[in-house]
Amino acid sequence: MLFFDKLQRHTPTVSFEFFPPKTPDGWAKLYATIAETARLNVDFVSVTYGAGGSTRENTVDLVASLQNNLAIHAMAHLTCLGHSQVELSKILDKLAAKQVPAIMALRGDPPKGETAFRPHPYGFAHASDLIGFIKDGWPHFKIGCAAYPEGHPESFAAGEARTPDRDIAFLKRKQDNGADFAVTQFFFDNAAYFAFVGKARAKGVTIPLLPGIMPMSSAKQISRFIALSGCSIPEALRLAAASENAEEAGYQFALNQCRDLLAQGAPGIHLYTLNQSALSGRILAALRDEKRV
Ligand SMILES: Cc1cc2nc3c(=O)[nH]c(=O)nc-3n(C[C@H](O)[C@H](O)[C@H](O)COP(=O)(O)OP(=O)(O)OC[C@H]3O[C@@H](n4cnc5c(N)ncnc54)[C@H](O)[C@@H]3O)c2cc1C
Repeated sequence: MLFFDKLQRHTPTVSFEFFPPKTPDGWAKLYATIAETARLNVDFVSVTYGAGGSTRENTVDLVASLQNNLAIHAMAHLTCLGHSQVELSKILDKLAAKQVPAIMALRGDPPKGETAFRPHPYGFAHASDLIGFIKDGWPHFKIGCAAYPEGHPESFAAGEARTPDRDIAFLKRKQDNGADFAVTQFFFDNAAYFAFVGKARAKGVTIPLLPGIMPMSSAKQISRFIALSGCSIPEALRLAAASENAEEAGYQFALNQCRDLLAQGAPGIHLYTLNQSALSGRILAALRDEKRV
């Protein structure tokens, strides 16, 4: 069953996210991860789109190869950043010709050193515009979009409490323009996700909101996310960072997060793998053993 059919039938999906590496070593590691992913039979894999340069072409080629050579349902991320409508059309034509079934339509972040997003003069300023463009020209694509349980960083001033309230109207616009589902930014506090889903549903957002989970595998990594992510941090994650076996504690934390999300009705789990399959694969295996997915 295609991943989107599963979503529509309320059968939970599990998906992995990869990024195109920049070094030969990074590619070697990713190929090993992909071989393992093919064996795991995940519902779909998504590949991020870089801020510029050759990694952008690599996204298209990698997604096409996953889809056609390995029969893994693949979703290509695509951003407004730096592209005219003509360029976007060419990329979408190429993805369509390669039978890629889904596009994750995003705006993109301001390039390094810039504080505000500047749209291309012949492009789009917001993801919702790109979504409408894809829906009009390539209606067969399934379209994903981004959602932010704790608010997009530009949606509140420095020092202000984080809230998704301002973004939800724009999420609704993404849905109205053709988005079929959303994937959330990672978060560590499931209460934030469920509060966000409640608010979105109250404003007429009906599409599946797939929670994005970041499994972490070392005390250093967990501490870095606690310090820098800006996310709400549950006590259990602080304890994991301080644990003598932080790798195992990080895995258990992410697994418990997934268990609770699925038990409370989340439509699936999207794992930010950071191009490594070990932790994500363990989580998937455990969820399958427990018949949660
Ligand atoms: C699951 C996921 C995957 C991602 N993958 C990538 C990737 O592959 N490559 C990459 O470069 N980045 C990626 N990003 C990051 C993303 O590009 C940034 O978060 C970016 O800053 C916003 O993208 P968006 O699509 O949410 O933009 P938008 O929906 O356009 O929102 C951006 C900001 O503008 C506001 N806004 C939206 N519409 C309007 C409007 N009509 N009028 C006024 N304000 C508006 C929103 O509230 C928000 O503050 C990803 C993010 C997520 C959550």
